[in-house]
Amino acid sequence: MTAKQILIVEDEKPIRDMIAFGLKRAGFEVLEAEDCRTARTIMTDRRPDLLLVDWMLPDMSGLELTRALKRDKETSEVPVIMLTARSEEQDKINGLDGGADDYVTKPFSPRELLARINAVLRRRGAAEGEEKVHIDGLVLDAASHRVMAGDRTLPLGPTEYRLLSFFMTHMERVYTRNQLLDRVWGGNVYVEERTVDVHIRRLRKALGEFGHDKFIQTVRGAGYRFSARAEE
Ligand code: CA
Repeated sequence: MTAKQILIVEDEKPIRDMIAFGLKRAGFEVLEAEDCRTARTIMTDRRPDLLLVDWMLPDMSGLELTRALKRDKETSEVPVIMLTARSEEQDKINGLDGGADDYVTKPFSPRELLARINAVLRRRGAAEGEEKVHIDGLVLDAASHRVMAGDRTLPLGPTEYRLLSFFMTHMERVYTRNQLLDRVWGGNVYVEERTVDVHIRRLRKALGEFGHDKFIQTVRGAGYRFSARAEE
């Protein structure tokens, strides 16, 4: 297997160098950009497997860059991990809504960053059916279209299965009902937004039997988030 390419978008060279060093040692191929404009050019030319995006960048914010990439069909599936400073308020972290697949708070250890990167890449690989995803006692096996809790298979209808497998491979981000319709139901179906709520309810019920319904978080005024972190 060829090495995965990771694009680091960070204007502070010492931090970029530090991250690049750790990633290269872990066997990744590293691409670097010091601003968003360069990052977009690299995205077009090199197709990285994952982006690390700093929050504070000189030409536009890392969040704006992430949103732009996620809106673009060509780049929307490329996972993004956001680097944020501890001083950034909680609402900014919640502002990751429209964008990142995960975030890491500075200062972070190389080991912590690597763990996050590997987790995101594993989830993405699982979305493509390459691997199983393990999240806190739940196991998604895309090859057999099943989700297991311990040795039991969750009783899921086809829509609940698609919804859960989407959530398990796209964690921590908030998705609006409309985005879920688009991504889980497919763009060409005409169903009402409240259909999403109906299936979320069924999914919560199925997960609830195993104590995992807390993973599905309702984000007021926004949509739903699947998270193994405690609700803020
Ligand atoms: Ca910066």
